[in-house]
Amino acid sequence: MRLQTITIKCPLCHNQFDELEPISCYTAGQRLDLRLIGAVSSPWPVPLCPTCGLVIYKAEKPFTPREARIVAEVMATQTYKAIPQCEQAYHRMALIFEALKKPADVVAYTWLQASWEVEDKVRVNRQFLGKSLQWYERFLAKQPRSPKASSERSKNRLMTAQLLKGELLRRLKKFQAARDHFEPLLNIVEFKTHAFFGSIINQELKLIEMKNALPQEIQQAA
Ligand SMILES: [Zn+2]
Repeated sequence: MRLQTITIKCPLCHNQFDELEPISCYTAGQRLDLRLIGAVSSPWPVPLCPTCGLVIYKAEKPFTPREARIVAEVMATQTYKAIPQCEQAYHRMALIFEALKKPADVVAYTWLQASWEVEDKVRVNRQFLGKSLQWYERFLAKQPRSPKASSERSKNRLMTAQLLKGELLRRLKKFQAARDHFEPLLNIVEFKTHAFFGSIINQELKLIEMKNALPQEIQQAA
């Protein structure tokens, strides 16, 4: 992974600081939870302001007054303050996105990325996987089960959320619920005929059968 130094201005406290940013990487594969494998930082590194502790989820545009107020409120909570210094950027981002009422699948994916940052801490990792699942369930509760009538973009969002919900159920050892979620998807034409979603579901069902709750690399269909 090649790095370059960039200067960032914190949109909250306006402090300037230098940060190493990746400019190239090499990806060798991807796991069923979409984490990338290879000479790549996954999740993608996001800077933390060394002065106020804000996770810089956007640096290009200034905060609106509403956004600045909500972000400051989140950062004043015990939960945010208890996060180990200079760590868990995506955990911080997930808390902020919840408060900003970002779309449920965006919050869900941010919690999933937060779980990748703490894979050496079993309890916290499980907690974040559970958060991600809750938000995907919230997202899917408001969507049609079949992706048919929707635009290409919302179809992709919906199908990705369906896959990740099942993956999270498996990772949380809810094997029966995971099977009950995946099996009906195979009857939906968009999944059945998709270039790789169908084979991913079959891979998931095999892992569920073996009661395997570990992260797994996506197997390329032969
Ligand atoms: Zn700051």
